[in-house]
Amino acid sequence: MKTYKCDVIIVGAGPGGSMAAKFCAQGGLNTILIEKKAEIGAPLRCAEGVSKKWLQEVGIEPDPTWICADMKGAIIRSPSGYQFKLDESKAGSEVGYVLERHLFDKALSRDAVEAGAKIMLRTSCTDVIRKNGKLIGIKAKSMGEDIEIHADVIIAADGYESQVGRWAGIDTNLELNDLCSCLQYRMVNCDADMEYCEFVIGRSVAPGGYLWIFPKGNGVANVGIGIMGTMAKKGEAKTYLDKFIGSDPRFKNSQPVEIMGGFVSTCPGMDCAVDDNIILVGDAARIIDPITGGGICHACRTGMYAGKVIVEASKNGDFSKAALMPYEKMWRDRMEDKLYRNWMAKERLAELDDETIDELVKLISDSDIKEVNVYNLLKVIKEKFPKVVEGFEDLI
Ligand SMILES: Cc1cc2nc3c(=O)[nH]c(=O)nc-3n(C[C@H](O)[C@H](O)[C@H](O)COP(=O)(O)OP(=O)(O)OC[C@H]3O[C@@H](n4cnc5c(N)ncnc54)[C@H](O)[C@@H]3O)c2cc1C
Repeated sequence: MKTYKCDVIIVGAGPGGSMAAKFCAQGGLNTILIEKKAEIGAPLRCAEGVSKKWLQEVGIEPDPTWICADMKGAIIRSPSGYQFKLDESKAGSEVGYVLERHLFDKALSRDAVEAGAKIMLRTSCTDVIRKNGKLIGIKAKSMGEDIEIHADVIIAADGYESQVGRWAGIDTNLELNDLCSCLQYRMVNCDADMEYCEFVIGRSVAPGGYLWIFPKGNGVANVGIGIMGTMAKKGEAKTYLDKFIGSDPRFKNSQPVEIMGGFVSTCPGMDCAVDDNIILVGDAARIIDPITGGGICHACRTGMYAGKVIVEASKNGDFSKAALMPYEKMWRDRMEDKLYRNWMAKERLAELDDETIDELVKLISDSDIKEVNVYNLLKVIKEKFPKVVEGFEDLI
């Protein structure tokens, strides 16, 4: 059997894996990034919406190649049609670009290659390898051939369906209420506002989640829905999405040209995303915003942190859990409070009936928020509906 040897093996070439590969390779480590699919970034499983501010934080220059549309703002609508429209000045960090996600992912993998990482496509990790109890690499099927890749450390960047963490003995299980089932159509020839992302909330529209319209220009938009696992029966995402599209005149002459489904975890991250010789990043570590389901920025950040920590650990040749723990500290310091707060908010908002959601949206549209983000919205809600934020008031 063909056996490869490297310093770091990264499983999954999504944003988390490519960022990790870039930082490991930049730090002088012999880095292999494997991807089970034949093409990085395809098929699409994303609504492609991102805010702008974090790009600088992870060293990504905005590039017209992968920016499909630059948003002016966002619209949030309640079931009875109350809405508030946020212009960019007010929408602050919550508004940004609609991406060409397949090109974005490819751009990140190109950066990893430029830094010196080796990419192996159509290479699917099938298990981890242990020697005397210690993780020493992975097994994979590469272009139909069984191979082994031996490495000092593994980065599991294998997304929502992550198996690598589980194979390594890490508990990656999710509660049903921390699971959102999603369906999206790429609609063409629609009359949606091409400058604003739209979010529709409410139990009768998207139980425990929301419905989105993310425009891509020229009458094209990603129109999708995410609903909470405990509040939906099998196949119901389609029923809700079809009902919305069928009843909205903006889609009267519109047709879907692409359909995709997927799952998003909506917990506040896993208990510990590190063990001896392994780090989990991005969706594999369940590090994703529980309220928006946005995970691209979290994957990029955690990929970068993992790369930096491993480069540091390599200086002492120590990849034990203790040596890799700075990774835990880094992501928790940066994101844990926000993830936890948004997780609590998600749980509470899911309990509200449509009338209360109408009230909330009215309240927010009448309020004088300087910059609209989840934090400020919760502050307004806290004043009028303290019950909604009971138990996590101190985070607001
Ligand atoms: C319907 C939907 C809409 C979304 N919309 C948005 C949005 O608008 N904005 C946003 O920020 N986030 C969105 N997300 C979430 C976002 O897509 C993820 O958070 C993000 O892709 C996480 O990046 P990642 O690198 O951790 O994982 P992924 O992007 O999932 O990458 C994992 C990679 O690992 C590969 N892989 C898996 N198993 C193996 C294996 N055994 N061997 C080799 N390779 C493997 C996969 O093929 C994949 O390429 C959405 C998710 C869904 C499902």
